[in-house]
Amino acid sequence: MELNTTARTNQFMLDVIDEIVRARTKHKGNAHQLAALSEEHGELAQAMLQRDYEPDKKDDGDVYLEAVQTAAMAIRVATEGDSTFGYNPTNGAAIYAAKMKMREGAKE
Ligand SMILES: [Mg+2]
Repeated sequence: MELNTTARTNQFMLDVIDEIVRARTKHKGNAHQLAALSEEHGELAQAMLQRDYEPDKKDDGDVYLEAVQTAAMAIRVATEGDSTFGYNPTNGAAIYAAKMKMREGAKE
């Protein structure tokens, strides 16, 4: 099996961006985003299991689709937050950047 993870990752990221655009059009606002992420993660696990144990129900495309939807929802949680919770995406990104800078400094 040929492993071209860079090309696959690039295509996956493009597919995730398309899914984010689609999801933001269909589900405006940031209500219940964490619940939606959990739902997508559950669907990914179910698709992965059914692909192996009930192959008449799910195939590799179903697993890929659920992975795209899970990644899209993780990005929406990180960048938009969830109105049910106090997480602030702007603060999250800034604090993350500062921590990564400290981590890089610790390596030097
Ligand atoms: Mg799904």
